[in-house]
Amino acid sequence: AERPYIVGNWKMNGSRTTLSEARAIDRGAQRTMKVEVALAPPYTLIHAVSREAGQIGVGAQDCHPGEEGAHTGDIAASMIADSGAKFVILGHSERRQDHAEQAELINAKIASALEAGLRIILCCGETLETRDAGQAEQFVLDQLRASLPKIDDAGERLSVAYEPIWAIGTGRTATTKDIAAMHKAIRGLIDETYGPDQSPDVRILYGGSVKPENAGEILATEEVGGALVGGASLTAESFLGIVVAA
Ligand code: 13P
Repeated sequence: AERPYIVGNWKMNGSRTTLSEARAIDRGAQRTMKVEVALAPPYTLIHAVSREAGQIGVGAQDCHPGEEGAHTGDIAASMIADSGAKFVILGHSERRQDHAEQAELINAKIASALEAGLRIILCCGETLETRDAGQAEQFVLDQLRASLPKIDDAGERLSVAYEPIWAIGTGRTATTKDIAAMHKAIRGLIDETYGPDQSPDVRILYGGSVKPENAGEILATEEVGGALVGGASLTAESFLGIVVAA
């Protein structure tokens, strides 16, 4: 199989003190070259992490869709690239929920990130209500259909992260059966969208309460090309536990 992609999303966590964790993650990742390891710290730490943890990929958790200009408090994709980041996470459910982000805005962010030369991790995922109504697959595929960028180098530029909202930060993970079914459906859509040349290189990550104890099983699941890890990425001990299990 391809090299698994294990990405830590620090969300609104991390300070100069926790740079030591990023350095330890970087050292650990160098011992496991068969895994591609990356971290998305908050904006305030991107530059420091990219300097001090030089081997792993560094990314941002969001960007503004516009160019530089009069947007107080916002950060442009070009500024993220300038600070040392190589990718950006877009469409995370916490952005969709906390900031009412919808496809139109997410797509504008994707376009500006691609323009800035960043790779994209595009997130999707359903609520428990939607899953219980039997609509999870349709919902997730609709979310992706609305936002998959029309590019011809998707294999290099794009990963998709399936994160069922009810599994984020809850300690509850989807069953491997549910993960496999959803990832297969997503793969079908990516095949259709990007064709046989590009599709195999578009990795589909799973996210939602991934930890060292369940990472081996989840990462061995069909069509799971990696993990997007929140809480368990905050310390080198737990994040490297996931990397080693991959
Ligand atoms: P947790 O790993 O804390 O459940 O978060 C998952 C997530 O949202 C990563 O983007």
